[in-house]
Amino acid sequence: MSVIPLLICCYLVTVKFFSIEILAGMNGVYFLLAVIFALLGLLRGRQVLRDVIQQLVEANRQLALANDRQGTFVHNVAHEVRTPLAIIKGALDNLADGLHGALTTDQTEPVAMSRKEIDRLKRLVGDLLDVARIEAGKLRLSREEVVLQDVVQSVAHLLGPQLQARGLSLAMDLPEQPAMVIGDADRLKQVFLNLFANAVKFTKRGGIRVRLFQEADAFQVEVIDTGPGIAEADLERIFDKFERVGAQEEEGSGLGLPIARDIVELHQGRLWVESQLGKGSRFIVRLPMARSLVATPGGSQ
Ligand code: ADP
Repeated sequence: MSVIPLLICCYLVTVKFFSIEILAGMNGVYFLLAVIFALLGLLRGRQVLRDVIQQLVEANRQLALANDRQGTFVHNVAHEVRTPLAIIKGALDNLADGLHGALTTDQTEPVAMSRKEIDRLKRLVGDLLDVARIEAGKLRLSREEVVLQDVVQSVAHLLGPQLQARGLSLAMDLPEQPAMVIGDADRLKQVFLNLFANAVKFTKRGGIRVRLFQEADAFQVEVIDTGPGIAEADLERIFDKFERVGAQEEEGSGLGLPIARDIVELHQGRLWVESQLGKGSRFIVRLPMARSLVATPGGSQ
């Protein structure tokens, strides 16, 4: 509102009238009134603006508080559920191992099914705990020298039986020079385990290819599959929590990728995907090289 009389003043002075004499008499009074209105409007506007900013700051504070409470709640529930889950799992493992006597044929199937479901629940609880820790900024990362070839190979070794069971091929394209980054080996393993496991899970025929190479002052790991691919509209969505796309025939919680991306970003890296429906997917992780390597021309030592 205050801007309008101000604009009128400017117009009167600069366009309509050419000299200050023209303000003599009643024109001067109108001009003065307009200036006073403009100033009052400005003062009022400042006050309104200050109030709005204060309300926004307060709303933001309340939101952050609610978010914190929600995170703490999820963390506490997940934490509480973990212990009974471990006990149930132990008991089921004992049953399956015949510690309480051999299982009858009728008992084998339900015990196996229960163990599978308990494992799934354990993974979900672990993921929820990770999400809560990340959101609270409490995910502690160790900082050690990590050779990416070791991480990738150990993950491939872990998933070997699943690859075989599904009749999928695995091709590894790794450099001989150690690709060293600074970070948390276990957490990086978690990232690649998620990417590999997804590639295996979603690929029905063909295989998985892993490439590791240097890209400027970073190392890039690509997990490439011949699976169903991902529609362009979903390429970013799959990194949101609980988002699952496509046929959803496979089990999953939709938490693996968001956690993996957060872990990579906590390592100052990037995780993204390139894909086309029906043409497979390429998940790409780029991590900064360990400083000592960056300093060396050519990037390797
Ligand atoms: P989850 O695998 O437990 O569902 P993720 O967060 O790991 O959760 O993945 C989210 C979704 O992204 C998956 O449900 C799937 O729809 C899609 N996705 C992930 N990896 C692939 C892949 N290699 N090929 C096709 N779709 C994938």
